[in-house]
Amino acid sequence: MTVQSRAVVLSEFDEPFELTTFDVPEPGENAAVVSVDYAGICGTDVHLQAGRLPINTPVVLGHEAVGNIAALGPGLTHDVLGEPLSIGDAVAWQNSVACGRCRYCLIEQQPSLCTGSRRIYGINQPADTFPRISGGWADQMYLQPGTTLVKLPEGVSPRDVIPLGCAGPTAIHGALYETKIAFGDTVIVQGSGPVGVASAIYAQMSGAAKVIIVGGPASRLEMASGLGIGHEHFNVMDDMSTEDRIAAVKALTSGGEGADVVIECAGIPSAVAEGIEMVRPGGQYCVVGQYTNHGETPINPHFITKKQLTIQGSWGFAPHHFIRYIQTLPRLLEQFDLGSIISEYPLDEANQAVADVKAGRVMKAVLRPGAVA
Ligand SMILES: [Zn+2]
Ligand SMILES: [Zn+2]
Repeated sequence: MTVQSRAVVLSEFDEPFELTTFDVPEPGENAAVVSVDYAGICGTDVHLQAGRLPINTPVVLGHEAVGNIAALGPGLTHDVLGEPLSIGDAVAWQNSVACGRCRYCLIEQQPSLCTGSRRIYGINQPADTFPRISGGWADQMYLQPGTTLVKLPEGVSPRDVIPLGCAGPTAIHGALYETKIAFGDTVIVQGSGPVGVASAIYAQMSGAAKVIIVGGPASRLEMASGLGIGHEHFNVMDDMSTEDRIAAVKALTSGGEGADVVIECAGIPSAVAEGIEMVRPGGQYCVVGQYTNHGETPINPHFITKKQLTIQGSWGFAPHHFIRYIQTLPRLLEQFDLGSIISEYPLDEANQAVADVKAGRVMKAVLRPGAVA
């Protein structure tokens, strides 16, 4: 009997998603089929639905998901770290498969910049061509050969992976690889969404002496504070001029000079001009949050020269960032209980879940495929 899977499909931009049923193909050589336990909804999905990113429809959305092995194709016997794979094993997978042949994959060794045929689950894999179920908002999903597949470490459950499903590896790339946080640094994180929260967590895990989260609304800052994420929390929604806000945030740093490292995770272009002013002379500024093109913004480049700033960009994440995310989860879970940040929805309530994300009613919405018989 053919196995079937429900999946949430984006057919038309700006229209509600449709729940469709697909036949699940048998996995081919080095491929796998996974049963999805949790699939996250992130800001990118809101932009995808609105047609703000150039993708082809129909597409099964869901670029962050976690679950267990339902079927293994011939040849796929171990995960990327050499652990043997069996049916039922809890696993996580990188949401993109770089081409492995272009200049950025082979020479620059930055697969997040791959210019070849980079496949991204839940974004650029159309639902009208094989294997059709290439997104995580589905009961089952087909993982193509070359997917970075990692067995979850002992003591880590799928529910532990999903709160920072794509925010965790995104933050690891920006905060730990493009930027270098030194032991004892003061770090400012602009933005208190999942990527901001994750960046603050990794800054703390790297030994930052002080992490200042500059974000909002107050409920998000309180949630972060309650979980021990960040040492100071500054609400950007307080009625204040830009100048006063910059001065107030800098006053929280040693000598009022600004932070050693400022990480932008706000996703608002104007945050960049403010962030540059919050860095100390000789410090680093990393732009992580501008994943979607929200247009231009005036900045004063004088500060970059005068302060000899190092400015980095960080685009998505590559397999090694993802693997580090999974490997370090046991240590993260010892310090931070992130289970409370998620709001769960059954698969057939995807439209409601996205509406709640759009309205900022939830910190992290996740779908629970297979949770309804
Ligand atoms: Zn995402
Ligand atoms: Zn490539």
